[in-house]
Amino acid sequence: MEQIYYKSTRGEDRLVSPAQAIITGIAPDGGLYVPHMIPSLDIELNDLMDADYKEVAYQVMKVYLTDFSEGELRGCIDRAYDKKFDTPEIAPLRKYGDTYFLELFHGPTLAFKDMALSILPHLLKTAMAKLKVNKEIVILTATSGDTGKAALEGFADVEGTKIIVYFPEHGVSKIQKRQMVTQTGNNTYVIGIEGNFDDAQNGVKEIFADEGLIQRMDRANYTFSSANSINIGRLVPQIAYYFYAYLKMCAAGDIRPGHQINFAVPTGNFGNILAAYYAKKMGLPVNTLICASNENKVLYDFFNTGVYDSVRDFIVTMSPSMDILISSNLERLLYYASGEDAGSVRAMMDSLKEKGRYSIKDEMRKELKDFYGGFATEDETAAAIRKVYKTWDYIIDTHTAVSYAVYEEYRQKTGDTTKTVIISTASPFKFTRDVMRSIDQSYAGVDDFELIKQLGELTGGHIPKAIKDLDTRPVIHKRVCKKDDMKKQLEEILGI
Ligand SMILES: *Cc1c(COP(=O)(O)O)cnc(C)c1O
Repeated sequence: MEQIYYKSTRGEDRLVSPAQAIITGIAPDGGLYVPHMIPSLDIELNDLMDADYKEVAYQVMKVYLTDFSEGELRGCIDRAYDKKFDTPEIAPLRKYGDTYFLELFHGPTLAFKDMALSILPHLLKTAMAKLKVNKEIVILTATSGDTGKAALEGFADVEGTKIIVYFPEHGVSKIQKRQMVTQTGNNTYVIGIEGNFDDAQNGVKEIFADEGLIQRMDRANYTFSSANSINIGRLVPQIAYYFYAYLKMCAAGDIRPGHQINFAVPTGNFGNILAAYYAKKMGLPVNTLICASNENKVLYDFFNTGVYDSVRDFIVTMSPSMDILISSNLERLLYYASGEDAGSVRAMMDSLKEKGRYSIKDEMRKELKDFYGGFATEDETAAAIRKVYKTWDYIIDTHTAVSYAVYEEYRQKTGDTTKTVIISTASPFKFTRDVMRSIDQSYAGVDDFELIKQLGELTGGHIPKAIKDLDTRPVIHKRVCKKDDMKKQLEEILGI
């Protein structure tokens, strides 16, 4: 098997090992790590037809993380995809009519980020041991809700790590806050900030850039790391479920191996759909990658005009995890679309930083033909939830609804009848208020925790355990601080 090394999208030609790329996260020149070549599976799809999720994950991840031994990688996979997930299938594929939904929300926080954040801590620990870095890892995260909770669950009680999450005290939903402040685990710390998400984010950036602090940490045997979605330790595990969905369709006899399918992905930071693009480049028979945006439609505009323009008003929607104006992982697609021309990627990223926008050349646009960019308005999103419920008695969340709405529009516009998998990124229980309001306006005035009960009734009495007794769980984390005191809190926690 060929060894895979990682290099920066912005041109620094130093190659690093997979373990090093996971530890470092971002390349020293500010670029993102990409594999020096796209590997293919060591095994035929036909021979994986009956494999379970863990086996598919192993076969996909081993060709990217070539410096991990079989025992190490399988160990990480076993510890990640265990009873934390409420179904042994891990990522069940549901079929309604000729539409498929790949449910990626059966992990501890009810959203797709669990697919990667439940394994990242184990990959990181293994990588540190491999490179003989004997420090305790301190993960710092500023969150607007979802990522923080998924990172907390992933790192809770993982030996040799501490996780500290800052969130805007008044800037997350009631359920999101409750999920975080009731987090168990001896190494977890959750701190509310008197400020907004940007304040929390800026505070974390300042801490990361504080040389004096980093030296004191080093002396106390601590090192910082981040659980950011640009880390290849998050990207690589995500490629697995695209293969898994395809294999499930083959095993059910819905398609024959070799037959093409589409994926429709609700997109924010472009991490999830990028994993689908890698799957396609590895040879998975994929026709179109449908990139679905909400009203923050920067990516829709980009695919349709070739101009990426982040200078616009930020719109708060009911699919908040997609409310993003700078999609960091798009940089990796630009790298491939430019024919791996790191110089032009650097120029585009410089332009994004300075002017908030860049445009791509016509040759590059041709390379993006695998993608269809669409967007759904708030009304279209609510209508999609209502329609799926009325038609199939199946309730989807607000993010999944964006991709369903865009998929319907795609089918009408193009006449393409290729079988399509909608990527379901969150449980409807996570966004209960907007889901219930979309089904029927009369739910609009009802309390959040009461709505969970009512949604449970609509879905046949099944309330996910992650949310079931949330309102009665003890509050463990009570720290609240001013935005200027974030560093002080950290020093207190670490005793430095
Ligand atoms: C993070 C998230 C997304 C967006 O995924 P990206 O990888 O950032 O494009 C979509 N839906 C949900 C529920 C999410 O949490």
